[in-house]
Amino acid sequence: MAAQPTEYDQFIDGEYTPSESDERIEVSFPYDGSVWATVPDGTEADVERAVDSARSAFESDEWRGLLPSERASILHDIADTIDDHAEELAELETRQNGKLIREMSSQMGGLGEWFRYYASQCRTHEGRTIPVESKGGEMFTYVREEPRGVVGAITPWNSPLLLTVFKLAPALAAGCTFVHKPSSYTPVSALRFAEILHEEAGLPAGVYNVVTGGGSTAGEALITHDDVDKLAFTGSTGIGRHIGKAAGEALIPASLELGGKSPNVVFPSADLDNAINGVIKGIFAATGQTCLAGSRVFVHEDVHDEFVDRFTSRTEDIELGDPLDPDTEMGPVAFRDQWETDVSYIETGVEEGATLAFGGEQPEDLPGECFLQPTILTDVDNDMTVAREEIFGPVASVITFSEEEEVIELANDTDFGLAAGVWTEDMRQARRFANRVEAGTVWINEYRTLSYNAPFGGYKDSGLGRENGKEGIDEYRRTKTVWVDESGSVDDPFKLG
Ligand code: NAD
Repeated sequence: MAAQPTEYDQFIDGEYTPSESDERIEVSFPYDGSVWATVPDGTEADVERAVDSARSAFESDEWRGLLPSERASILHDIADTIDDHAEELAELETRQNGKLIREMSSQMGGLGEWFRYYASQCRTHEGRTIPVESKGGEMFTYVREEPRGVVGAITPWNSPLLLTVFKLAPALAAGCTFVHKPSSYTPVSALRFAEILHEEAGLPAGVYNVVTGGGSTAGEALITHDDVDKLAFTGSTGIGRHIGKAAGEALIPASLELGGKSPNVVFPSADLDNAINGVIKGIFAATGQTCLAGSRVFVHEDVHDEFVDRFTSRTEDIELGDPLDPDTEMGPVAFRDQWETDVSYIETGVEEGATLAFGGEQPEDLPGECFLQPTILTDVDNDMTVAREEIFGPVASVITFSEEEEVIELANDTDFGLAAGVWTEDMRQARRFANRVEAGTVWINEYRTLSYNAPFGGYKDSGLGRENGKEGIDEYRRTKTVWVDESGSVDDPFKLG
């Protein structure tokens, strides 16, 4: 008999709290469709309580009054707690979205580094004094960077905790408090994360609250709440635009990490073994369900045929299977709707003239209804739908080019600008491409690497603001300038100066 699903409550004010709603959301394992958890389908009232709790925590001496070294110490304790729970959190992630345990284990194993890095930012944070010329130099200003306040964070399903931590670690380091609405496909890891951070890492109650629920209900209540000081969003460009409008209406800042349609460019001098591995890493890792997906593969005509042959035969060997098995190379698509979206894009590609070089089928020997073969479309033109819209699945579109100038234009001929890859042994050519491509991240002879200290974010419709690095913490601070007059007398009160 199948085990009963675990029932979770909301995590508000440092503890599990029943929702105002009786409605539940089921969480299933995409490998076989089994439901293993349920969470509340949260309401506006849940969001209200979470924001109140975050506000009280923000104003409390226990949080706001921390010295930099004390705040850093809590962040270190969080990092150690994550390390202790890395395997458990990795399994929760895989059970929610079907991503490989081998990827989620390494993500969770590295997550603590974000908190250690931002702990170092607490300890090394310094102000500025600016000598102004007023009063013959007898005035000066100093600049304070203060926490923004209560953050409303909304995250997607594809790397749930990693993308949460991109926001939470700098926000806590800056002194903010947090209300988080995770994706309704992947809410459990956030709840458990909040629990261990409060119970084992000593995070004061109310600093990190999790409200589960739908985007148009709990999500909407959070982005329109009038006591939220900053929005931090990762997700699709369409919802990001909507959140940007809500932030504009409330006159609060929003950082928006959105979709992509990234070019991955193979020049003739590329080491083809590396390039093929890099292209596979770009589009079939994580079953293509990554914002960074190198979904437009531009291949120079001189190496096109050889590249396609070798890319296809390497793709045929990709091992599909149970994402909890460390040997599996590609797991299922995260849910059936996304599977149908992927298949319909493949059909559109073929209708518009692309050739299905490999894939497009649901393998018969695997359970559930979410497996899709890694798929290669060739003869793609950059104007086709499959080259213009984000698919968010394991579908590579191969496009031929003949000149460097041409491929730079093609790479930039897109609404998106999240990332780009370039494969060449000619480093001057690589840097020319990197300088001119309109993307927030460029890899030369690699793909899909990230670090806590390297700024990350999009150009164009791929987003606003940056996560990670020093830029990441600046998103959670606001600047105050304090003027000090040491002259002892006030000038002419009727003029500016
Ligand atoms: P999505 O935009 O559908 O949902 C993201 C989150 O927004 C979810 O939590 C959802 O419940 C919430 N939401 C939906 N409607 C809302 C509303 N009206 N108000 C408030 N919240 C609302 O995205 P998804 O399908 O979960 O994730 C896939 C998308 O995320 C892809 O486009 C992908 O490229 C993007 N993504 C971007 C990055 C990045 O760093 N740039 C990283 C990962 C994923």
